[in-house]
Amino acid sequence: MPLHLDDEFLSSLAYEEVAVALWAIRLHAADEAVTPTIALRLIRQYLQPLIPPEHCHLLYKQRVASWDGIWGIYASLGFAVCETRDHRLLEVMKAVQLIHANTTLPPREYTFPTVVEVTYFLSMCAQLQIPVQDRICMEDGYRLDPFSFCTLCWRQPLPGRKLCAHHAPNAPLQDEVGAQAAAARYKSGVRQKERFDKEVNRILTKEVTEFHEGLFTPAVLFPEQDIAIWLTERRPLLWQLLGEWQQELNDGNAVSMLLDLLHCSDGLPPKAYQIYRQINRHLQRHPHLIWPMLIRAEGWYRCREEVRGQWGGKRSGAGRPLQLAAEPPATSPDAGP
Ligand SMILES: [Zn+2]
Repeated sequence: MPLHLDDEFLSSLAYEEVAVALWAIRLHAADEAVTPTIALRLIRQYLQPLIPPEHCHLLYKQRVASWDGIWGIYASLGFAVCETRDHRLLEVMKAVQLIHANTTLPPREYTFPTVVEVTYFLSMCAQLQIPVQDRICMEDGYRLDPFSFCTLCWRQPLPGRKLCAHHAPNAPLQDEVGAQAAAARYKSGVRQKERFDKEVNRILTKEVTEFHEGLFTPAVLFPEQDIAIWLTERRPLLWQLLGEWQQELNDGNAVSMLLDLLHCSDGLPPKAYQIYRQINRHLQRHPHLIWPMLIRAEGWYRCREEVRGQWGGKRSGAGRPLQLAAEPPATSPDAGP
């Protein structure tokens, strides 16, 4: 199967040399089934020249080429990007992922999810040899991915969709009449998506750097003990959002409380309700897996705080004070997530 990428996509890339490399790979593979061996050879031939020499060894780690191994190259380039903040390398990393996915139809399913914070989370767990239970099987055979997120927030998307029940337009929640509120939430989410992604990335970069600089310190991951302290230091806006619940929070109930706050199944359509319940149960069983959800939620509220600051004017201290605790998510269509 050749490489399925259209010209429009290639011309949308920020770095021409990456586009040219992908274009050459596509041309090269036009008439042959791309096996992992061929894919790896093409990656080395066309993408390696775009990778800084100190990271080129990442392309030579596998003895036998495999699709999982190629996905591993993508993930380890991600680590290199985090260290170097090299934007061209980021695009090379994406190119490797595209070669992994788009050399078959429908696109090859990733062994791991593709949201970048999940990639780093899984890499950090791998470094520390922490097992990750990343699949949940429902009774009807439907497979759930606890690291699948709505593109606009931290919630699980509706089945077969990219958006969650809060953000899908035309999907009013149970207590709403008509689709107006849902449409407003969707629009508001889209408006702030870029900023949201940036905020999540900012926290991620800081923590992954810390992880490396501390020689794989586990402190950045969700702890088993002293969760309240961890939250105040690393997810301060979520901590604030807990409001009165802060007093009751302890290491035993922290995950349930956070899920009540961020991933409550009340008022959802039946299928989404079931999925949220399954995901929440899974996260309660494996508390450390809540990390990607928390980094996305913290990023979302940071972004919201920033937007509020701007509404209040640019003078320092002129923004509206942060009132997250008094304002649970999704209360009103425009202010809600
Ligand atoms: Zn959402």
